[in-house]
Amino acid sequence: MRAVVIEAPTVVQIAELPDPEPGAGDVVVEVALTGVCGTDIHMLDGDFATARFPIVPGHEVTGTVVARGTGVVSPRVGERVVVDPGVPCMTCLLCRRGRPNLCEHRNAVGITLNGGAADRVLVAARNCHVIPDSVSSTAAVLAEPLACVLHAFDMVPRTSGRRVLIYGAGPVGLLAVQVAGYLGAHSVDTVDLDADRRAVAQKLGASKVFGPSDLGEEDDWDLVIDASGAPTAIEDGLGRLQRGGTFLQLGVAPGDAVVPLSPYQVFARELTIVGSMTTRHTFPGALRLLESGTITSELIVEEPVPLSHYAKAVDTVRGRNALKVVVGPGV
Ligand SMILES: [Zn+2]
Ligand SMILES: [Zn+2]
Repeated sequence: MRAVVIEAPTVVQIAELPDPEPGAGDVVVEVALTGVCGTDIHMLDGDFATARFPIVPGHEVTGTVVARGTGVVSPRVGERVVVDPGVPCMTCLLCRRGRPNLCEHRNAVGITLNGGAADRVLVAARNCHVIPDSVSSTAAVLAEPLACVLHAFDMVPRTSGRRVLIYGAGPVGLLAVQVAGYLGAHSVDTVDLDADRRAVAQKLGASKVFGPSDLGEEDDWDLVIDASGAPTAIEDGLGRLQRGGTFLQLGVAPGDAVVPLSPYQVFARELTIVGSMTTRHTFPGALRLLESGTITSELIVEEPVPLSHYAKAVDTVRGRNALKVVVGPGV
């Protein structure tokens, strides 16, 4: 089968690999579409600590089950699935505490195990979630980032009635705009450098949109979410919280980035700072929200490009020239 292989940081090529054979408990998924995201860029640049090389990237995978190993009850051959990339050990302390996304020995499809930028991918059956019939593969490609966003909102004390400010109107920020609205936020304001992205945020329910220099001295948001990973945005956002407010770090910042923080302000304003890493039991909810139309993929997922254009697709993500970029072997 054809696969995108990152041989080492900055070295990416299309290679011919053996077709995967399912072991006990595994399935082989024929890939329909795979999303490309900022994490793939970090891996390609060699600044994602947990990545292993060589690796087939792609952790936002949709496709159809074409083979099953022994002992697999669900999914069935022919069913369309999305893949939860997380492969926790289920025996370490964090797994046993019910926090498998923080597993000490965590593997992940497309990060440490071969992923979906290929004709086929081998995954454990338990990592598959069947896609409802009414959800297109294009929409289902958002199940993984949406599951990340739902986990993020699970980590904050509450959203309903709160004034929310989101930094970054990329795919994750745009999903967060929609989820905050669904959860009953009083208002959902959005900051982005790019006027086109601000316009999309507004169409998807943002109350007010701002360029980074438009915010003035305002500091009365109850929940500030960073979905940009940009240290300047994070520093700015930490200063925009209302007393008693919560800052949620959802974006992936560079591993060596640091931002100034005023301990006095954390004390005097009783601020809460929360991190959120990938997903935790949130795939089924993500698929339900896509099925009900509560969350839309429209305006977010771009026209798919062929697998062979992977390097170009990464450059598109890097250049912020598109929202959710997807590649597909059959495109
Ligand atoms: Zn991703
Ligand atoms: Zn573990």
